[in-house]
Amino acid sequence: MSPSTQNIVTYSPAYTLVPTYECFNRCTYCNFRTDPGKSPWLTIADSKSILQQLQSQNICEILILSGEVHPLSSRREDWFKLIYDLCALALSMGFLPHTNAGPLSFTEMQKLKNVNVSMGLMLEQLTPKLLNTVHRHAPSKLPQLRLQQLQWAGELQIPFTTGLLLGIGETEEDWWEGLAAISDLHHRYQHIQEVILQPHSPGSQQTFDAEAFNPLQLPEVIAKAREILPADITIQIPPNLVKDEGWLLACLDAGARDLGAISPKDEVNPDYPHLQEQRLREILQPAGWELIPRLPVYNQFNGWLVGELAAALRTPLEDANFYRK
Ligand code: SF4
Repeated sequence: MSPSTQNIVTYSPAYTLVPTYECFNRCTYCNFRTDPGKSPWLTIADSKSILQQLQSQNICEILILSGEVHPLSSRREDWFKLIYDLCALALSMGFLPHTNAGPLSFTEMQKLKNVNVSMGLMLEQLTPKLLNTVHRHAPSKLPQLRLQQLQWAGELQIPFTTGLLLGIGETEEDWWEGLAAISDLHHRYQHIQEVILQPHSPGSQQTFDAEAFNPLQLPEVIAKAREILPADITIQIPPNLVKDEGWLLACLDAGARDLGAISPKDEVNPDYPHLQEQRLREILQPAGWELIPRLPVYNQFNGWLVGELAAALRTPLEDANFYRK
């Protein structure tokens, strides 16, 4: 397996732990959240038994995906501690954690760096006009706040995943502006490992009454994103949100090279089941693409991981099945 091989598509064999579905934001396209206090928090004991079952399943990434407790809430500290403890537990059991829990304080991010091989936050869109529409009740979606998260991740040398949510009321120009902003930050810090292009896909819980993102446009957006983004940033697409097999292949032809974390359930888009590895292989192989599992941190960032994280990385890297992306 040579890293220069052109026909490789990667994915991360993952399982998603959700510390809580409660979220103080109310994005109108959300199919994930419950109101604060309405979602019991995951316990460490339950997480441990889930992780024990996963140990024999060739899963490497534990994606910690959480709804948000308000930064000024008296429960914020407990919420953050739960996330930290879940990461530490996953790490101690041989998994590689990747957290996406919304905007964090600099100190929170700094602490989570010690127990995560990479972290993520969707930039979504930069245009402030969404604050009057889909993000009217979502203070975490302030564009400047999200840009600042990307900057802090760079300052802290945290390998980072970000991306755009397409089709929530923005214009084409907004896409290019968002991608340019990600590129600028990457030029400064060299820390963005992948950019997700996620098409809005209506779900059964959302109140946002809009069509799905036009699937025919996705390959076009990928091709232009490939021109805007630096070559060392991989473009990721969620295969369960692409219209059909033909369009999935068109997305790869346009420049997408990663299918993200594939876990039993897509927690963000529960109405769209993930295509599992075998099915993806059946689609990709006849078209000449080789599907290979990768770690949740790309090879170029190994030097940023120290101590326990560096040691944790060695085990899966010794497994020849994992692609050193
Ligand atoms: S999309 Fe994310 S930030 Fe918005 S309400 Fe849902 S969980 Fe909260």
